[in-house]
Amino acid sequence: MAKQRPGNGAASAGKGYTFVDHKFDVVVVGAGGAGLRATLGMAEQGLKTACITKVFPTRSHTVAAQGGIAASLSNMGPDSWQWHMYDTVKGSDWLGDVDAMEYMVRQAPAAVYELEHYGVPFSRTEEGKIYQRPFGGHMMNYGDGPPVQRTCAAADRTGHAILHTLYGQSLKHNAQFFIEYFALDLIMSDDGVCTGVVAWNLDDGTIHRFAAKMVVLATGGYGRAYFSATSAHTCTGDGGGMIVRAGLPLQDMEFVQFHPTGIYGSGCLITEGARGEGGYLVNSEGERFMERYAPSAKDLASRDVVSRCMTMEIREGRGVGKEKDHIFLHLDHLDPAVLHERLPGISESAKIFAGVDVTREPIPVLPTVHYNMGGIPTNYWGEVLRPTPESPDAVAPGLMAVGEAGCASVHGANRLGSNSLIDLVVFGRAAAIRAGQVVDRAATVPAINEAAVEKIMTRFDKIRHADGGTPTAFLREKMQKTMQEDAAVFRTQETLEQGCRRISAIWAELPDLKVHDRSMIWNSDLVETLELENLMANALPTVYGAEARKESRGAHAREDFSSRDDLNWRKHTLSWVDEAGKVTLGYRPVHTETLLSEAEGGISLAKIAPKARVY
Ligand SMILES: Cc1cc2nc3c(=O)[nH]c(=O)nc-3n(C[C@H](O)[C@H](O)[C@H](O)COP(=O)(O)OP(=O)(O)OC[C@H]3O[C@@H](n4cnc5c(N)ncnc54)[C@H](O)[C@@H]3O)c2cc1C
Repeated sequence: MAKQRPGNGAASAGKGYTFVDHKFDVVVVGAGGAGLRATLGMAEQGLKTACITKVFPTRSHTVAAQGGIAASLSNMGPDSWQWHMYDTVKGSDWLGDVDAMEYMVRQAPAAVYELEHYGVPFSRTEEGKIYQRPFGGHMMNYGDGPPVQRTCAAADRTGHAILHTLYGQSLKHNAQFFIEYFALDLIMSDDGVCTGVVAWNLDDGTIHRFAAKMVVLATGGYGRAYFSATSAHTCTGDGGGMIVRAGLPLQDMEFVQFHPTGIYGSGCLITEGARGEGGYLVNSEGERFMERYAPSAKDLASRDVVSRCMTMEIREGRGVGKEKDHIFLHLDHLDPAVLHERLPGISESAKIFAGVDVTREPIPVLPTVHYNMGGIPTNYWGEVLRPTPESPDAVAPGLMAVGEAGCASVHGANRLGSNSLIDLVVFGRAAAIRAGQVVDRAATVPAINEAAVEKIMTRFDKIRHADGGTPTAFLREKMQKTMQEDAAVFRTQETLEQGCRRISAIWAELPDLKVHDRSMIWNSDLVETLELENLMANALPTVYGAEARKESRGAHAREDFSSRDDLNWRKHTLSWVDEAGKVTLGYRPVHTETLLSEAEGGISLAKIAPKARVY
């Protein structure tokens, strides 16, 4: 697909920039799994749709997803959406919104079959059905049974297969792609309606003003706020930055998932599918320590649990290696044919990044930042929320968010492995269905709010000409180290207060940044500076939300408040960040009602009532 040149636009100038104007029913920002599924669905609804992406669609981070996509197909043994729902509620440590979780798991099988029909080359069973592997926290019989085989996989390159298939499908439809365009900010009307987005064409330096009836943010996570992360360098929370600057809140940002098995040193991911296929962790004494902490799920306990156990083993002096600062993952007892067929990608990664032949030696691993449970609050149709104390579920008109950028919230305080890929396609589709209902095709596209664009361009121009004394890379590393040290696997009041002080001090240094390259063509210095500002808009609420939350829940593990406190803290954190970097926190209730009643075949409320979370 050739890159779209300025299409239906008219050129105008302002601040020395060349503007190109566009009108669409819907503009999707992001072309990962979520953005592409939404784009494809919007076009199918007959909506005139644009998709803007800063990288070529198939380079989005979704391409790196390895292990698989969860759906209760029952191809490898008994399973049900009710079991999947129970596991997801429990995995979320009772912070997820029950209606959204139910919607996702009930839609999941149809969503996977849809992907199959689109052409995703899933691995197969002997009878030709979609192959499914066990994954952490996915169990039989409402958590009472052994691990269930629920995660559908295309070897260990599932995201690659899904992303390429979705991109191919989306080209069949009449959606217009704007590739290597960097979205700068949302165009908000004076009364708070989103009416479009401004983007910079990285290739020719023009500024594009997209007027739209609906904007969908599908910009992915912000893993790069941390020093060691499995996510791509492009995962910089740009959608969160745009939301913050539009005066809207982010939700549950303190919940950051550490994946147990990043390769020691590089942070490159070894999929949980490796443990799903029978891999296990050992400490320096050669002990399979997970048996001690999680007697039934063992190495397949959920990610927050395994990451904490590994950290405890290392702290207690049972880490491996010269510095006793990591853990070994063994796959060398598995049949080399299985490794070759089911885990070829990670066998290669282990060779490249750790110099290890997985058929003979263990892989050195360490918990590494992997996923952001928090994000832009939405309902289960992907509509962005603008909550007030009186109406905690009020919708922000003209705006949707899907994928890792959003927070529906199906993952609550901890996401189960393989529940993100299913989230992308289920909610990408849901957003399109909803837009089909609420976007008036006959209405005129809102006019560009010139004053809003002026403000966006003033900010852009200021950053482009930033002439302080601090290089972007320097401040970015300071932020990443602060996040790594102070908003870590284990947290205390002391580390979090220090984190708040340090991250606010870094915010105060932003005006002193220095951008060396002033050009408008492929200016990666400027891109990275814009991304740093976006990362900071996500980092602040992460640390401040964590400091305020005086309990342990899911991925948020406080040593000074070691238990979960449902009475006071079963609620979503909301955080607003103003221009001066001041964080204001608020809260909204968790949705605890199911969509289907028990009489209608739904799960009983008693079944999913909060209880201790043991694996
Ligand atoms: C290594 C790895 C392995 C994983 N494995 C699994 C797995 O096996 N199963 C599972 O369920 N989950 C897995 N996950 C999680 C899952 O892959 C991600 O959560 C998911 O892919 C995110 O998809 P997304 O569409 O929301 O965003 P992404 O795929 O990150 O895409 C973001 C898109 O937004 C665009 N964008 C961002 N900012 C801008 C901007 N300013 N202007 C224009 N465009 C912009 C980018 O160009 C990109 O197209 C894994 C994650 C990682 C990092």
